[in-house]
Amino acid sequence: MGFGGDGLRPLTGLLKPDEVVASAPVAPIASPRQQLQRQLSAPLPEAPELVLVTDLDGTLLGGSTPERRRFYRWLAEQRERVLHVFCTGRDLVSIARVLQQDEPIGLRAPHLVIGDVGCTVACGASLAPVPLAVDPIEQRWQGLPERLAPLLAHQAGLSLQPVSSNRRLAYYVDLELFDHGVIPQLQAAGADCVLSDSRYFDVLPAGVNKGSTLLALLEWLEVESRCVVTAGDTLNDLAMFETGLQGVMVGNAEAALLEHLPRLPSVYRAEAEGCAGIAEGLRHFGFDHLWD
Ligand SMILES: [Mg+2]
Repeated sequence: MGFGGDGLRPLTGLLKPDEVVASAPVAPIASPRQQLQRQLSAPLPEAPELVLVTDLDGTLLGGSTPERRRFYRWLAEQRERVLHVFCTGRDLVSIARVLQQDEPIGLRAPHLVIGDVGCTVACGASLAPVPLAVDPIEQRWQGLPERLAPLLAHQAGLSLQPVSSNRRLAYYVDLELFDHGVIPQLQAAGADCVLSDSRYFDVLPAGVNKGSTLLALLEWLEVESRCVVTAGDTLNDLAMFETGLQGVMVGNAEAALLEHLPRLPSVYRAEAEGCAGIAEGLRHFGFDHLWD
């Protein structure tokens, strides 16, 4: 990005009017990455070779315990080379619980978190929301709950999830009872709907999902897209796979997600399940050197 110079120029000889302006002691303009870093409590890797964006359940948390220990140890060792982003439907409270529960097998906090199916972005170390990424989503959410409430009240087959969700509504869905006819009505009111794992029904501000929030975050990070690999296993990961970034559909991916594979040329279908599938995909995409 072209934010060069420190705004200070040497005062030599007579100055033309434009040089007088240019020589004023102005504050350096921060790059997008510097602006992001200022809202985080821990430093990002200076020059990451890989930005690894992983869903949690069934993906980073999937696989046998020995496989998970091995993968988490590798991630911890590569902390300066691999910028790790969680990208999950869980809310921040639930993410904090996962980090605490799986710390004994070596899971460490990521550098960044995308939570609430793309509606929250937080610092990995502190789990504090990052305003520059969250504020635009918050704006889209304004007024929406009031417009959606009459459509969702008394809907058969939906029960609210006990999560501290922000900028989205999260339900458990019983597909036997659920009337799909409400989806176009919610869309007309300005929402997007995501059915995932045949159990979860999320109502999000239109245009916000795991993929859109990831792409916005990558703009702030100023990384090249060839350094990015995403990984997931259910339908709420589809938006990540539709970004065109390199993606890994892990071996245990749900059937409804697999149906989309033929139209996703940048996505690799791993044989291995969960985190072993992520490792397999990274090797497929030429990141073997990160194991050297
Ligand atoms: Mg999952």
